[in-house]
Amino acid sequence: MTHRVAIVGAGPSGFYAADGLLRANPDLHIDVIDRLPTPFGLVRAGVAPDHQGTKAVVRQFDRLLAQPDLRFAGNIEVGRDLSWEELGEAYDAVIVAIGMVIDKKLGVPGEDLPHVWGSWRFVGWLNGHPDFRTGPDLSKVERVAIIGNGNVALDVARVLAKSADEMAKSDIVPEAGSAIASAPIKDIHVIGRRGPENASFTNNELGEMGRLMRAVAVTDANGLDTIPPASDSTPEKLRKTKNLQILKGFAGNKPGSKSLTVRFLFNSAPVAFAPGVVDLTSGKLEADLVITCIGYAGEAFPRREDFFAVGWAKRGPTGTIPTNRAEGHAVAKQVIDWLAERDPKSGPDILPAAVDAAGWHRIDKHEVAAGSASGRPRVKLTDWQALLDVAQGG
Ligand code: NAP
Repeated sequence: MTHRVAIVGAGPSGFYAADGLLRANPDLHIDVIDRLPTPFGLVRAGVAPDHQGTKAVVRQFDRLLAQPDLRFAGNIEVGRDLSWEELGEAYDAVIVAIGMVIDKKLGVPGEDLPHVWGSWRFVGWLNGHPDFRTGPDLSKVERVAIIGNGNVALDVARVLAKSADEMAKSDIVPEAGSAIASAPIKDIHVIGRRGPENASFTNNELGEMGRLMRAVAVTDANGLDTIPPASDSTPEKLRKTKNLQILKGFAGNKPGSKSLTVRFLFNSAPVAFAPGVVDLTSGKLEADLVITCIGYAGEAFPRREDFFAVGWAKRGPTGTIPTNRAEGHAVAKQVIDWLAERDPKSGPDILPAAVDAAGWHRIDKHEVAAGSASGRPRVKLTDWQALLDVAQGG
């Protein structure tokens, strides 16, 4: 008999855990279950569509899908198609890799107005997530306010600020790409509630904002000079010092010198939203569209001895994709140690009919073929039923 492990969530943390398990014990049977008919979680739905280098990590995960003892089971929602308890009964261990998929709320008046979007929903639209097929109406949007000072805020600002040429090799869904290209956006504010030294931007992502074709990045020089350079060389201090250098470069740029201006505004937090206006602690700002990029919350799952959380479900919404590798392998080791103490359970296969790896490869082939005509990596299927039809060979 072989131990059976269920991994719920086919994103990077789930695949890195699977990788760790199979390295330690190639005889395990692993089912990787996902609510979507497609694997790869945040890489497909969260990583910005113009960051194709980051998305290339899926090649490693695709190799795992080819392993005989790893089964992909897409279009299966735990809580709808089967319960956490049933999984716990049937499998020797369950790895919970469900990420965090709920936009955190600011809790200020006006947050539910139609022009205020959370980043999960907005980025899901850019990335063709089948739950988010409709984006905001950009046809009259001249001014955008982005709330938050993390890499998601930069992703959103950059994709809105890039020209159609700069997005040409991306896999942004065509409707979103053309809506952005034809929007009359002139001004994007990226707004942080704390000072520039506390922004969680990484250097490469911030630096990219200074190399956009149609957009100039600017900020106020006041406040940047008062911050001393790092006195020690921890990676965190070096990151902050380099960010400040980049921002000083932006402070020397001229607003309006390109058709679009991206303004970094610090020490300013939203107090309320009204149509066309954001009330900030630093004053009023006009904005036709607001996108909050302030982090995510997760869905509840049972805490039991035989359930092992990994990735954002374990540590919260922080860290880059490679962060998950070491952590996924560490959790896999805990699971291996747990299994070593137990005999495998016997019992029937409880998984309902699912989209398997072959079904995903049909979707993949279809999308890549659809993209090749226009020189794009792929054109994603965004309709749930179309995904299922193509997976089934239709
Ligand atoms: P993040 O780095 O934690 O940034 C969240 C931002 O929201 C922070 O600036 C935070 O400010 C602000 N915030 C939180 N609550 C707020 C409130 N109530 N009012 C105003 N501002 C508020 O998270 P993220 O940008 O969502 O990114 C998630 C993770 O994915 C990060 O680890 C990120 O590096 C990673 N990621 C990486 C890439 C990449 O490598 N290219 C791209 C996207 C995301 P405070 O600091 O004051 O709390």
